[in-house]
Amino acid sequence: MHELQQKYSNQIQELAESSRRLADLGYVTSHGGNLSYRVADDVVLITPTKVAKRKIQFDDVCIIDMQGNVLFAKEGRKPTGESPFHLRIFEKRPDLTGIVHAHPPVMTGFAIADTDLLTKAFLPEPIIEVGPMVTVEYEEPLSEELARAFDDKLPNANAFLMKNHGAIVTSLEGVERALEFFEMMEAAAKSILVAQLLGGAEVLAKEHVQNLERTMKTRSLPMPGAPGQVDGLLELFF
Ligand SMILES: [Zn+2]
Repeated sequence: MHELQQKYSNQIQELAESSRRLADLGYVTSHGGNLSYRVADDVVLITPTKVAKRKIQFDDVCIIDMQGNVLFAKEGRKPTGESPFHLRIFEKRPDLTGIVHAHPPVMTGFAIADTDLLTKAFLPEPIIEVGPMVTVEYEEPLSEELARAFDDKLPNANAFLMKNHGAIVTSLEGVERALEFFEMMEAAAKSILVAQLLGGAEVLAKEHVQNLERTMKTRSLPMPGAPGQVDGLLELFF
């Protein structure tokens, strides 16, 4: 076993299990989607290109540095072609450690439709745990332009709806947590869709969001976005 595999074996296991779970959830098809886990300042675990997420095992996980240089990859494995946006997000947000990108059917439907509903305040848990899902304009997959498209959104959000493409959800606590948040956002998107079918989703009142903000501050929970960047929830949702 490579020394880095040994050193980060728990986190590699976590990434491999999260990849398979992402596939079980039906959020990816074929070779789609990718996951990464920053385990040290200059060490990132990332899924390989051209391998179905349901098949990812410990040895399939690639290890790269923040410049994208491969520190470890087993024979026949190469880091995902979407490494540029993973590294760009980690570079701009040193507080984040886990990133999940996938194409879940409901959120991706919102990404195709002309709507900003996912940026609004509907449900308390997604507001507290993740914050608004901000839209990133369409750029070609695998391109540097796509990586740069996140730049002006990263200071104020931890979750991103990629126009006509899919979604990205991040976490301060590793890749499994990012996947749990991803599930939460897909579930919220489903509920919002159902509410729309039932006559229209109603946003939480400002005062309720203000109360949530107070609760977060009392519990010392981090606001969405880069540390120190966002003062409170109201500025994000209203
Ligand atoms: Zn994609």
